[in-house]
Amino acid sequence: MRFSRRMDGLPPYLFAEIEHKVAEKRKQGVDVISLGIGDPDTPTPAHIVEEMQRQVADPSNHQYPNNRGLQEFREGVATFYKNRFGVDLDPETEVMPLLGSKEGIAHICLSFLDEGDVCLGADPGYPVYASGPILAGGEAVTMPLLPELNFQPDLGAISADVLSRAKMLFVNYPNNPTGAVIEDDFFSRLAEFGREHEIAIIHDNAYSEITYDGYTAPSFLETPGSKEVGIEFYSLSKTYNMTGWRIGAAVGNAEIIEALWRLKTNMDSGMFQALQKTAVTAMTGSQQCVKDMCKLYQRRRDLVAGTLKEIGIDVNTPKGSIYIWVPVPEGYTSSSFAEMVLEKCAVVVPPGSGYGPSGEGFVRISLTAPDERIAEALDRIKENL
Ligand SMILES: *Cc1c(COP(=O)(O)O)cnc(C)c1O
Repeated sequence: MRFSRRMDGLPPYLFAEIEHKVAEKRKQGVDVISLGIGDPDTPTPAHIVEEMQRQVADPSNHQYPNNRGLQEFREGVATFYKNRFGVDLDPETEVMPLLGSKEGIAHICLSFLDEGDVCLGADPGYPVYASGPILAGGEAVTMPLLPELNFQPDLGAISADVLSRAKMLFVNYPNNPTGAVIEDDFFSRLAEFGREHEIAIIHDNAYSEITYDGYTAPSFLETPGSKEVGIEFYSLSKTYNMTGWRIGAAVGNAEIIEALWRLKTNMDSGMFQALQKTAVTAMTGSQQCVKDMCKLYQRRRDLVAGTLKEIGIDVNTPKGSIYIWVPVPEGYTSSSFAEMVLEKCAVVVPPGSGYGPSGEGFVRISLTAPDERIAEALDRIKENL
């Protein structure tokens, strides 16, 4: 077969080699504990599942949906944004459904980038911030996220050449993989930066509802002027344990939403109406299930951070996200530590370097395993250090 050059540009899939090794071990009967992938281990809340069961049974939901999204869905998202963030969205022009935000992140690059154009993305960061631009034929340029700057990119350090070619920028807070949250006026500076350099700001808001210690995460759209320069991707995946359902929304700048919609009318045929209607129930009904999830993750977070501190690893206890960003002990690299933990402890922790060069020196622990499995994994690590 002769495949496109664009396929050659794609980085190797981060988890491919780890998955292969884990499969080998499990075949040999080894009890492997994965703290790797960020995928909630508890089920979608019952009231959401029940609503979906009702909606699936309704024949009026069975045909091709409208690509632009049901009025009901767009209004539901706008209501959620108003209630939760105090942000006004016009359901007609400023909201559209996504088949998960990953889809939106990859596709939006096609509506912005031509050859030679740059997309700025966080390093370490969600891998699609780099592969999306590459698939679109553009260039992915990374902005290091360093602990000494609260894992926020140094906008002043971006070169003039990159600034002149950059058309879009991805950021994400609460952050995957570092667990960092917005500490100061960074969103305002980002909006100003976007306006000054004509760079579309795209905030990937996957974790705003998963926060701890009383911290409440903002939406980028709460920032004055943000809607003139950017959009936000909201996802139901992590908030409502709905990763398998594939549902999110793009919200914000109407011109960007319109371009993304025009693009997507040529790629997919919208989202199952039963799912759109169920999403409204999730977003506008009781949010007790979200509070319960945060309590569960906070307990696991304290377990992980507490145990690591006991064994001399000084971790930042994150205020949001489902990840702990762990500096590797003296004498290890990200990869050698991840490998030691897999080989000696049969525990999967992805090396930070897999999320970008600035992730070197860290591994990421995901809180999406049952408490007793996390405790067991930590015991094994403790024994082998
Ligand atoms: C999980 C995650 C997503 C994926 O969201 P989907 O809506 O499931 O596609 C997007 N961005 C980040 C940073 C994530 O961690």
